[in-house]
Parts: sequence; C-alpha cells; structure tokens
Amino acid sequence: MEQKEAIDFLRRYVPNSTYQGSLTTEKRSDRKYEIEFKAVSFRYPGTSTGALRHVSMKFDVGGRLAVVGENGSGKTTFIKLLCRLYDPDEGEIRLNGIDIRKYRYDNYLALFSVVFQDFQLLAQPLGANVAAAEDYDRERAARCLEKAGFGARLAEPLNGLDTCLYRDFEEDGVEISGGEAQKIALARVLYQDAPFIVLDEPTAALDPEAEAEVYTKFNDIVEDKTAIYISHRLSSCRFCDQIAVFDGGQVVQQGSHDQLIREEGKYQSLWNAQAQYYQKAEEVPEGVF
Ligand code: ADP
Repeated sequence: MEQKEAIDFLRRYVPNSTYQGSLTTEKRSDRKYEIEFKAVSFRYPGTSTGALRHVSMKFDVGGRLAVVGENGSGKTTFIKLLCRLYDPDEGEIRLNGIDIRKYRYDNYLALFSVVFQDFQLLAQPLGANVAAAEDYDRERAARCLEKAGFGARLAEPLNGLDTCLYRDFEEDGVEISGGEAQKIALARVLYQDAPFIVLDEPTAALDPEAEAEVYTKFNDIVEDKTAIYISHRLSSCRFCDQIAVFDGGQVVQQGSHDQLIREEGKYQSLWNAQAQYYQKAEEVPEGVF
C-alpha cells in the first residue's frame, strides 16, 4: 500500500481516537440540539461509487425522522456518519452549527442511543443488559423495563433483574423471543436517556403483532427526544414528521407521508411496491401508526 493510501485507510478505520476534537457538547436541559448535514459525501475505500453523495439535511429537534429507501441506497451509511463511525470525505456534519469533528468523541457519542438491527443482548443478567454495565441503578433499570413493556415478564417467578438471559452459561437462564429482546433494547435506550434515539428497524425478526407493540412502545418512550428510524417498511413511518427518501446515495425527496404520497417519485413507487403489505397493516389495531 502506498503511504498516502495507508494514511487514507487509517483515517477511515481508526479515525475517531486520532481525530478527537476538544470541545465538550453543552449539556442542554432543553435538549435543543440541532444537527445538519451540509453537502456530505462519502465513499467506502476500494469502491468507485459514493455511498453518500451531497447529502444535505436538517433535523427538527424533538421530531421524528424516518430514513427510507431501497437496500444499498445509503441509509446505514448516513447513520454511521452521524454516529462518527466514519468521517465524511466532503462536506460537514454540524451540531449546533459546529463541525462534529471538533467535539470530544465520547462527549458527542453520549448524545445518541442507537439500536442497530443486529444489536446483541449478552448472556448476562437482565439488569446488566439494560444498563450495559455491571454496576447500575436497579430501580431505574426496573422502571425502564416496565416502561418498555417488559414488566409482566419481570413479575414472573424469575430472578427479576438478576435473571440470566440465554442458557449459554447458566442452566436457569431464560430464552427470550425477538419481541422481548426488542423490549429490552428499548429499556436500554430509556436507561441511557440520550437526546437522540436511532432505531434501525427490526421488523424482519418480528411477527406483525410484536412489531406493532414495539412501535407503540417506541412512540411512547420517544417523548421530547429526537428520533431517527431507518425504516424498511413505509407503513411504519407514517407517524414521522419528516421522511427522507434515499436513492443511490442521495436524498431525493423529503417531506411528510401525506406530502410524499401525492408527489410522483421514489416514495410513491416504493409505497406502491409494498402495497400488499399495507393491506395487511391496515388490520393492525388502530392507534398503532
Ligand atoms: P442501506 O442501508 O440503504 O441498505 P448502505 O448504506 O448499507 O445502504 O450502503 C450504501 C452503499 O455502500 C451500497 O452500495 C453498499 O454496497 C455500499 N457499502 C456499504 N457498506 C460498505 C462497506 N463496508 N464497504 C464497501 N461498500 C459498502
């Protein structure tokens, strides 16, 4: 590898400890954090087409943003850049008007709770999974599980927060379903109490009833936080204030569901392609979406 290539490679893959800024993010009780993508482009090393191309977008604080688009359109890359797993090749991501690279990395990351689709629960006690730590506030963990809809299960004659998940290490560990795992993940988000929540839609693993329940819960717990969904099914983002439609690494449309469904464009064609699913979704109890 040429030296320049090696440096580029390192910058991409080990960037964040070396690119640490020194600014601390303000602790704002009003949660008035504004994030803006300004003409952001990014290409994975060794690929010829940009995964993101000139993406510009502002998030409404306290709003719900859905990121939709076909596979490979750039949704995950967008989130990875937002969470500083990579830095843009061009353009800037700003937090309250300042390039996010200027903030301390740990400080910046603490603003986000992220549930990736392939999130992992550990073969550890339930409470430790919620807090992502061995030492934690037990009362708070129990409250978060309750809010996330796991309360009934917690009341079963198990060991409460000390119940071990899975049977890998403990014979009396409990196996949990995909829907229950999602509730634990939501409880973790609640426990972190960060101003931004990012949810990579988990629907593939859930049956429609469990999915509807997770959405209802998620919608409840978001409260005044800013929520960003990566959504594979358009029906699940109808309640979002803002929808960004990705196509080929670009944001090709932005607006609410009611606006976008009337415009001729990608959203409408994705919607029509998934229409069969929505007919089924109509059977989901009222108030869920
Ligand atoms: P989505 O989340 O919408 O499915 P991604 O952001 O994962 O899309 O992918 C955008 C583009 O970047 C795709 O063309 C994909 O093949 C490419 N890509 C994603 N991850 C990598 C990677 N680690 N290395 C190289 N190319 C990647």
